[in-house]
Amino acid sequence: MRNTVKRWSMTAVAAAVFAGVWLPASASDVTVLTAARIHTMDTAQPRVRAMAYDDAGRILALGDAAELRSRYPQATHLDAGDATVIPGLIDAHGHVAGLGLSQMRAQLADTASKDDIVQRLREFARELPPGAWLLGRGWDQNDWPEQRFPTAADLDAAFPDRPVWLERVDGHAGWANSAAMEVVERDLSGDWQPDGGRIERDARGQPTGVFIDSAAALIDSAMPAMDADTAELALELGMRSAVEHGLTGVHDAGVTLPQLRGYQALADRDEMPLRIYALAAGDGDALEWICDNGLYAHDGGRLQMRSVKLYVDGALGSRGAAMIQDYHDDAGNRGLLLTEPAALDAIVARAKGCGVQVATHAIGDRGNQVVLDAYAKAWPEESADHRWRIEHAQVLAPQDLPRLAELNVIASMQPTHATSDMPWAEERVGPERIVGAYAWRQLRDSGARLALGSDFPVESVDPRLGLFAAATRTDAEGMPAGGWLPQEKLTAYEALRGFTLDAAYAGFAEDEVGSLEVGKRADFVLLAQDPLAIPEQQLRDLTVLATYVDGDEVYRAPRD
Ligand SMILES: [Zn+2]
Repeated sequence: MRNTVKRWSMTAVAAAVFAGVWLPASASDVTVLTAARIHTMDTAQPRVRAMAYDDAGRILALGDAAELRSRYPQATHLDAGDATVIPGLIDAHGHVAGLGLSQMRAQLADTASKDDIVQRLREFARELPPGAWLLGRGWDQNDWPEQRFPTAADLDAAFPDRPVWLERVDGHAGWANSAAMEVVERDLSGDWQPDGGRIERDARGQPTGVFIDSAAALIDSAMPAMDADTAELALELGMRSAVEHGLTGVHDAGVTLPQLRGYQALADRDEMPLRIYALAAGDGDALEWICDNGLYAHDGGRLQMRSVKLYVDGALGSRGAAMIQDYHDDAGNRGLLLTEPAALDAIVARAKGCGVQVATHAIGDRGNQVVLDAYAKAWPEESADHRWRIEHAQVLAPQDLPRLAELNVIASMQPTHATSDMPWAEERVGPERIVGAYAWRQLRDSGARLALGSDFPVESVDPRLGLFAAATRTDAEGMPAGGWLPQEKLTAYEALRGFTLDAAYAGFAEDEVGSLEVGKRADFVLLAQDPLAIPEQQLRDLTVLATYVDGDEVYRAPRD
């Protein structure tokens, strides 16, 4: 991935030494990047025209183009022309394997008929080993002439032996063929139904092939566990997609030990195109692994695991988020806690004892309150630099909102969740509680640190959409006009900070990345437009020209 154009004549190097010019250790490997503007995110020197970095990817100097060229006369010159350079973007909450896996499933959205589906599946299956499960997602019977649920029989002719399992567009139903249903141990016929789900059946009680909500788990659990190669491929595909969107770092929110091993194998082979800050999956043995082995960092500088991801509640859309009062649109329902306060206290105490950072998923105002209470108990000392985080921090009670800043708790939030949820969020929580929901501005103004992300693949991995959502609070069409709860908008600069320096801080990495400063890593993105000068409505149309990590080009947009 190194730029092979970096060649210079010995004469030039010798001449420079002879002339008494100071040369860094690997003088001949200096690169001077020039661009129309370089936004450093360093308040001491916010905007420069040139940046020099060494072969190891360390920034040596920032400043004026002519000055840096004369200071490093033998350097390779990288002229970015009219481009704007920004620090590499960091997604503070994504799921890399999930993103990769979603690319390994057949995409079935926008089909005209069931035949269309079978056609796409046939093409997709050509790439698969014989007998492997064929997975897909995105079907919607409303797109087809008959507008009825499909059946296993629709797939059986084309796939008599290979199990096929296809998720509906909303993720709340799955469609299986007979080969997939045969693998399920439990007899699916009869008149029984699982809690929280439904098996579609014909008049004789035979399953038709569609499994709704929790019933889908019957098929899911019959799938063979992923082998190591497939798991590694998923990580590779996910990381590849991230760098194509200008990301140079991802906080992977819930990494199991097998996944960590996959990352380690890739890091050992120098095949990590970006930095992964792994939050260990708290429901497995990863926390104990860190406690036994110590905080983990790979030598290559691209993989770390020193944090644990916990869950306190569910999601707002399905009313699983824990609320202090009833849901506005469902009297008597307050959602539920997935982790009771006492259990949470115990696990965070264990994490603290091992020096592990805690990052807890909390959506409802009760969920957030329980987490803040647990963190407050764990850290009675006031100015501790623990950097514990709340993932999502979606609905906060008015009295809890200032507590994040008071307790030094980082709000790890996803701007696109707000714009995805805005059509129905107020219905769920009502007009009073919505004021403390998706409240980036209030949190930021209260002094809390905002680390921004996307929660991909739940939302798109594309950080331009996050910047756009944070600064406009509208959908792609600009609705609602002026933005939803517009008082919570961030400026483009503040949003960019959330995706750079403050995301870096949330991963204990602000001395290495997040801004372009001398001594830091040359992680940066070339954009065709200046995100701080264009109207906020255009942030979603920024063009990522190239992505660099440690001074190495890890992505370049194809020329058209
Ligand atoms: Zn997530």
